[in-house]
Amino acid sequence: KGPDGKYTVTLIEGDGIGPEISQSIKDIFEAAKAPVKWESVDVTPILKDGKTAIPDDAIASVRRNYVALKGPLATPVGKGHVSLNLTLRRTFNLFANLRPCRSIAGYKTPYDNVDTVLIRENTEGEYSGIEHVVVDGVVQSIKLITREASERVLRFAFQYAQSINKKKVRVVHKATIMKMSDGLFLNTAREIAKEFPDIEFDAELLDNSCLRIVTDPTPYNDKVLVMPNLYGDILSDMCAGLIGGLGLTPSGNIGDECSIFEAVHGSAPDIAGKGLANPTAMLLSSIMMLQHMGLHDHANRIQKATFDTLSEGKTLTGDLGGKSKTHEYAGAIIKRL
Ligand code: NAD
Repeated sequence: KGPDGKYTVTLIEGDGIGPEISQSIKDIFEAAKAPVKWESVDVTPILKDGKTAIPDDAIASVRRNYVALKGPLATPVGKGHVSLNLTLRRTFNLFANLRPCRSIAGYKTPYDNVDTVLIRENTEGEYSGIEHVVVDGVVQSIKLITREASERVLRFAFQYAQSINKKKVRVVHKATIMKMSDGLFLNTAREIAKEFPDIEFDAELLDNSCLRIVTDPTPYNDKVLVMPNLYGDILSDMCAGLIGGLGLTPSGNIGDECSIFEAVHGSAPDIAGKGLANPTAMLLSSIMMLQHMGLHDHANRIQKATFDTLSEGKTLTGDLGGKSKTHEYAGAIIKRL
């Protein structure tokens, strides 16, 4: 927080539609008088020792400010390129991926009452990248689960449940088959649960969760779901599908020190530069960011203006069946603030 009372936040505008949707967020924050000063950084990858890396200035900015808002980054295609998203996750040890999915009034989907929160372990499991050829035609991939990483994400899940007044935490697992790895995750959850006597804890098998959420998501609205990496990757997209797809879904990548908030969708190269992009997912991510910073009044005001604009349905972008340009939609939100 600076002497002017404003918090400096790193802004990674991103590629494709990133700059257009970032502009909407900047305009809306200014109109809402949110005490945020943006520090824009460029993350165009540089080559360091033959590997793609994020420029040092961008890394230093996030470390200094602790909080960043990020637009989509196009992953360069070709050998030797590591995904920049993965690099950011590793650089800042962003151990938990937080994905709330809430139905949006005015946008018709098969369900209109979804309010799930899913937390995915973000650093290990099946995505540890430990794979090798045993003999020609036989490949082994190692799923790594550690008590340390499990404890960290599970404790965050309980703390987050408390912070948003949800009374239940549920672990999703497959410890019936993966007795040791998922067993360790589940047993660690049982231990951590003892630290939070005011939160109800239970566990459910992944296949059961999938079947039951798509049958009726309502019983999941009072819970925070937490799970190992791969299950979280799949289940979080499934939940996004319940509310109308990835275009409306925000996310937070939470670390020990720094946290990066971002929309779940990509850089949409097919509509970039045309003023057609929907900034809602990035805006909802920025609202999560304000909540994370404890700026709840500003978060609530912007959120209400956004949901009211969407439910009124007059000023929607093309992906939601409307005819409005990005800046017209942002303008409608600003009018309601
Ligand atoms: P995408 O999400 O960019 O696009 C999929 C479809 O959804 C496109 O038709 C696009 O026009 C539409 N769309 C996406 N966001 C929209 C928005 N806000 N408003 C309106 N329409 C929207 O997925 P893709 O085409 O598979 O990926 C494009 C690039 O984005 C790739 O380089 C990929 O690596 C990258 N990507 C980045 C992230 C990230 O930074 N977190 C996530 C996914 C993909």
